[in-house]
Amino acid sequence: MTQTPGQSTRAIHGTSLKDAHGAPHLPIYNTTTFGFENTEDLLDVVEGRKAGALYTRYGLNPTTFALEETIASIEGAEAALAFASGMAAETALFVQYGRDGVVCLGDAYGGTLELLADQLPLLGVETTFLLGSELSGLEGALQAGARLVFFETPTNPALEVFDIAEISEVAHRYGALVSIDNTFASPVNQRPLELGADIVVYSATKYLGGHSDVTAGFLLGSEELITPVRGWRKNLGTTIAPEPAALLARSLRTLTIRVQAQNASAQAIAEAMEADPRVAQALYPGLPSFSGHKLAAEQMQGFGGILTIKVDGDGAATSRVADRLELFTLAPSLGGAESLATQPVTTTHHGLDPQERARRGITDSMIRLSVGLEDTADLIADLTQALGEVPQ
Ligand code: PLP
Repeated sequence: MTQTPGQSTRAIHGTSLKDAHGAPHLPIYNTTTFGFENTEDLLDVVEGRKAGALYTRYGLNPTTFALEETIASIEGAEAALAFASGMAAETALFVQYGRDGVVCLGDAYGGTLELLADQLPLLGVETTFLLGSELSGLEGALQAGARLVFFETPTNPALEVFDIAEISEVAHRYGALVSIDNTFASPVNQRPLELGADIVVYSATKYLGGHSDVTAGFLLGSEELITPVRGWRKNLGTTIAPEPAALLARSLRTLTIRVQAQNASAQAIAEAMEADPRVAQALYPGLPSFSGHKLAAEQMQGFGGILTIKVDGDGAATSRVADRLELFTLAPSLGGAESLATQPVTTTHHGLDPQERARRGITDSMIRLSVGLEDTADLIADLTQALGEVPQ
């Protein structure tokens, strides 16, 4: 083929590893170790002269190789590392590149905030937290020595959009790296490396897995940046196992079509919610009324499958709306085939004290929706009946 294959093609044909019997995809190498003909062959792999299978925890397993080659191809990255979870990927990132200080911009997944605020300082990894309204503090933190800037865009749950190219340019002036948690967007909707970021992080548990049945994570970037992280993964023992790796490789084949369908459905739902008088505000990057719309349109290929509505009512009324949902399952995750709803004050942001929630713009009336693959009309009908509970 002369032309560069598109993203869907790469998702399906992204690995050069082939099955010896002609199966269209690699079988699962559900094995912990691999044998050699002789010591010379073994040493070639152990000493890194030849790529090859050796020991699964090291990531040297053909199922892992195939998965990593495929996600790297989809993302347009030189190298990928697959982990047992998104948090495992983040831990390896922060311990390798956060030792001179991390700057965390905007809101982030609760587990990430906890890791940065509570556990990593015990190892000397300190973080400066700056909200979107405090971006002017970025240069100060970089001048003070921080060498890793980390953020999500769009953020959870307010969908705040950060300018990846602009922030990368500032960070690079100080010799700092930029790492984006691209979980919400997925590589279908946003490719941070093309915009100047250095390392992409995924909770593959979400859109990449896509069926709420696998927990996994990735780091992606240049060979030079990813190679030093290998040792952390190997010795923290946070490598993905072969069975979830194969399940994830299966899911990647349908990534593009799933995400595109979720984008279209979320857009229609956001428009319906914005027009509904029982909804005070609909937050979705695809709505022209949304503050981050213009920037999202510039740096994203699609607006994603997540939206947040602010119910016109108090926290209790909002909980009643959430409880009346029938198709949307009340669950604190996202990115699966089934639609999920969560009231952030009861789940993802439950641990924050009310003042901190208010500072972050998290209100009791928010419901975050992860739009699945059901018929859009059914999802709108479900929300419409659930909203009936809100007092006029
Ligand atoms: N990043 C984001 C944006 C998330 O939503 C999550 C989990 O909800 C994580 C990271 C952590 O991923 P995992 O649950 O796979 O460890």
